[in-house]
Amino acid sequence: MRILALTLDLDDTLWPVLPALERADHAVDAWLQQHHPDVARAWPVTAMRELRMKVAIERPDLAHDFSTQRQLTLQHAFASCGIATAPVDVLWEIYFAARNSVELYPDSLPALMHLTARWPLASLTNGNADLERVGIHRHFHHHISARNTGAAKPDPRIFLAAAECLGVAPENILHIGDDVELDVVGARDAGMRTAWINRHGATWPADLGNAPDLDVPDMTALVEWLERQPPTT
Ligand SMILES: [Mg+2]
Repeated sequence: MRILALTLDLDDTLWPVLPALERADHAVDAWLQQHHPDVARAWPVTAMRELRMKVAIERPDLAHDFSTQRQLTLQHAFASCGIATAPVDVLWEIYFAARNSVELYPDSLPALMHLTARWPLASLTNGNADLERVGIHRHFHHHISARNTGAAKPDPRIFLAAAECLGVAPENILHIGDDVELDVVGARDAGMRTAWINRHGATWPADLGNAPDLDVPDMTALVEWLERQPPTT
């Protein structure tokens, strides 16, 4: 396997995303309780999440754009309380700051430092993490997101957009991620090599076809494997 570049998933690969999303929803709720108690009463955290899922179902054209989904959700919530103009910008900033206050897995930063030194590296995500806010922006040479590409994993188009950006053929790119379908199957179908960050020791689902090229428990094991690969130049 000749690997010339890497693409790397973010949420649940470099940090656990659920705690950050949980904090973000509650930060928005706390602001609403203080400034718009009627909206907070009508749309507590659980109801707001259900509303967002409804928006997602009604707007399949926004499947690649979680940010706009959330902004529309807020507009719906305020409109239902008779407020035509929701303070979307204020609430978005509160949400986005909390959403990016992630806690990296302990192996992530040391691994990133190794990877960046040796390989062209692109982030590749369906989510809306902001790597400058997270503080790891400088470790990536390129940033590929579903929102900017117009297609979300596992659609091959987002992987091919990354390959084009890196200037490397898909078969010479290793995609690294935690999700069996979005990352492993998606990248495999786009012709890439695949590394599954399998932090919970799951068994590869046989119905998904060929197992990933690499199945490792964390980013440290990934780096150890990559450093055993022969130099490419
Ligand atoms: Mg992920």
